[in-house]
Amino acid sequence: LPPPPPKSPIGQLPNGSFSPYAGADKFTQLPLSKKTKDGLKDSKYLKMTDIQRASLPHSLCGRDILGAAKTGSGKTLAFVIPVLEKLYRARWGPEDGVGCIIMSPTRELAGQLFKVLNSVGKYHGFSAGLLIGGRGDVDTEKERVNELNILVCTPGRLLQHMDETPNFECSQLQVLVLDEADRILDVGFKKGLNAIISQLPKYRQTFLFSATQTKSVQDLARLSLKDPEYISVHAES
Ligand code: ADP
Ligand code: MG
Repeated sequence: LPPPPPKSPIGQLPNGSFSPYAGADKFTQLPLSKKTKDGLKDSKYLKMTDIQRASLPHSLCGRDILGAAKTGSGKTLAFVIPVLEKLYRARWGPEDGVGCIIMSPTRELAGQLFKVLNSVGKYHGFSAGLLIGGRGDVDTEKERVNELNILVCTPGRLLQHMDETPNFECSQLQVLVLDEADRILDVGFKKGLNAIISQLPKYRQTFLFSATQTKSVQDLARLSLKDPEYISVHAES
């Protein structure tokens, strides 16, 4: 009989590229700060889901990610964790301003991921704000928005701040996240999204996560992704 085919080499990820953390199964096996590890532990997150296992080794190395996995597969932590680590490693502090923008298509989804960010990030000293329409006083928000490190927002509200808030500043942006990217990239937001993207610095890390893979060249060019990792996870069962 011929010998069995070799097992996949150590470090090989499902999409064929390599990372020293590709074999990791638990969050504790990843190169994370103690603050993030403690936040995950308190929230009872131990083992990674498939999309987390496939994407975190890349995102933690600073790569851009285009990730697709069905609803309920754990995409939130797949971007919340590298966001926290990126700012932590950069020693991001109160004076550094907006370091990360996370966009979500709806207020409800923005609110949900804001909770996850706050629970997993509770040992970090970053200030995070939820900027969504139809809630709170936009004028009070305008006074505080430049003091925030992480903005969780809907595209409409973010654009409102870009247009109306004096001295709104995101020139130091380190990470841009589009959650439910396929919905944000949808026609309804197209104009608004272009206006937002044009005001963001191009040198940054970008994560796009959605339930379906979106490879439209035009979309990618607009977001200035740099050699992104395409990660698609489909349930086996
Ligand atoms: P998606 O954004 O892909 O729809 P979510 O990030 O909202 O999925 O996660 C779906 C559910 O799975 C949430 O209740 C979340 O708390 C849970 N979850 C995510 N990652 C893990 C994990 N590593 N271990 C246990 N539960 C998890
Ligand atoms: Mg989600």
